[in-house]
Amino acid sequence: MARPPEHDAELLFGVISIAADAIVMIDEAQRIMLFNRSAEQAFGYAASEVLGRPLDLLLSPRFVEIHRQHVSNFGAGPATSKFMGERQCKIFGRRKDGTEFPAEATISRWKRSSEMIFTVVVRDITERERDRTTIHQLAYYDTLTGFPNRTLFRDLIRQAIVVGREAPKPLAVLLLDLDQFKEINDTLGHHRGDLLLRQVARRLKEVLRPTDAVARLGGDEFGLLLPLAAPEDATLVAQKVQHALEAPFEIEGLPINVETGIGIAIFPSHAGDPDNLLQKADVALYAAKKEGSGHAIYAPHLDPHNPRRLSLLGELRDAIRAGQLILHFQPKLHLLSGRIVGAEALVRWQHPSLGLIPPGEFISPAEQTGLIRPLTLFVLQEAARHCQRWRQAGHRITVAVNLSVRNLQDPQLPACVEGILKDAGVAPDWLELEITESGIMANVQMAIDVTAGLSRLGVGLAIDDFGIGHSSLGILKKLPVRCLKIDRSFVKEMLTSEDDASIVRSTIDLAHSLGLTVVAEGVETQEVLRKLVATGCDEAQGYYICRPMPAAAMLPWLDQASQAPPRAT
Ligand code: C2E
Ligand code: CA
Ligand code: CA
Repeated sequence: MARPPEHDAELLFGVISIAADAIVMIDEAQRIMLFNRSAEQAFGYAASEVLGRPLDLLLSPRFVEIHRQHVSNFGAGPATSKFMGERQCKIFGRRKDGTEFPAEATISRWKRSSEMIFTVVVRDITERERDRTTIHQLAYYDTLTGFPNRTLFRDLIRQAIVVGREAPKPLAVLLLDLDQFKEINDTLGHHRGDLLLRQVARRLKEVLRPTDAVARLGGDEFGLLLPLAAPEDATLVAQKVQHALEAPFEIEGLPINVETGIGIAIFPSHAGDPDNLLQKADVALYAAKKEGSGHAIYAPHLDPHNPRRLSLLGELRDAIRAGQLILHFQPKLHLLSGRIVGAEALVRWQHPSLGLIPPGEFISPAEQTGLIRPLTLFVLQEAARHCQRWRQAGHRITVAVNLSVRNLQDPQLPACVEGILKDAGVAPDWLELEITESGIMANVQMAIDVTAGLSRLGVGLAIDDFGIGHSSLGILKKLPVRCLKIDRSFVKEMLTSEDDASIVRSTIDLAHSLGLTVVAEGVETQEVLRKLVATGCDEAQGYYICRPMPAAAMLPWLDQASQAPPRAT
């Protein structure tokens, strides 16, 4: 902006007086010298009422000290010409009628002959703050009850888990839903259904402690988070909650009885993350309803009856056809050269309404129903197609695909793999298949036959999750395996647990003596990576190197990784 001539003070004064922002000028003693029209509107005073009076008049008395500091602690500032610096801060203004408002203030300091003056430009941000609060409210809270919604509830669980890790103490997630709520809604109308939910919410709030969190997860489903509760405590709370909801509700004069079911899952024994805890609580809830027991604690034998799992299974067949399965890839780093030498394909289900479902939720059901065959063939085709693209772009890397127990008992598998590789124009030794010890032990002879067929093709074989299964060395020697992948549970703890460190060391020695390469999984920190290098491990995979990424991101990532200098360990 061009500087107006010095003598145009009148012009400047005119501009200031009609500016849209409230502008207040004060002297060194913080007495008001100028008060423009917008300031009159913002504060409700006429200029004549405030001129010569202290600035405090316009500020919330609650924050007077802080406000004074904003003005006085200006520091030295760039003492060029008359302008001596500027700062922005949040203040609370006070109107003539005593009401207060949040504002953003830009304070600038000026030198005038021997004294200082300050201009304060005040912008009322009530609207902006209100919008922000509304957006926050809508994104994280349920409008009917004012409780946190599912998104916030998951965050709350996550936070509680982080706190809990420092001094591991259990916490309980409870899922509660009302029996026959749909009927109540249908017969009495949604309006009364809503009133009922509000009353349920009120009683829940009353019966819980302030440290417990309660959320409405949708429909008639509520979530409770009890920090630091032992399993027995969680059961007691479930009983207390059910007792509190037993007395009839009165909705517009009508007495209504509701019954509830509660499912309980405990961190860390049942699951280690919010989604899994919610899923286990859901399994328990379903069991509680089925058995009519009111509430139930999760137990692994309840899993197969999980309705979400059952309905997912029904959809999985179509999902494969509809292209809802997608691959993510996670690179493998060769430790000596610092180069990326391979990538593991990890399948996910992009579900139209449930979002991205991790493989842990659908692989084992797929195994039990035989759907694992089309699923594996799909993953193989996709992995081969991508590997071909990476190779064409000049990246000499392999692609790894996970096989399930059932795949290892499928005598057709080698022929299918051969066909897929041919169609994609992929050389057999670009592909590596990861098999688990449990997959082998399920039917040792069959596994030996199928792996022999695969090996004849020239495909590489790796033992996945090594260390947690119970395969015998004798059997391992009979399999045409090239590589062992040490399970991430040992890798993760190798800095803190001498047992785990020695398992990793002896696995590496053992593998090397059998002529196998070793991949460490689950490398999450640089320290672990360094220790692996020192122990003679060949390759590593894990979040520290790279998290699994969508297929489309792989090629750019590889391009960039190959241009960067070899990764320093
Ligand atoms: P996995 O074969 O052991 O795969 C590695 C898993 O560890 C992946 O989880 C990956 O995201 C995770 N991971 C990688 N780096 C780290 C790390 O530094 N820290 C931690 N904590 N985890 C890490 P994901 O993708 O959820 O896969 C879970 C399992 O599902 C896989 O375990 C594999 O057994 C199975 N799976 C995945 N894709 C397929 C598939 O296409 N077919 C079959 N049969 N199983 C699959
Ligand atoms: Ca694997
Ligand atoms: Ca693994």
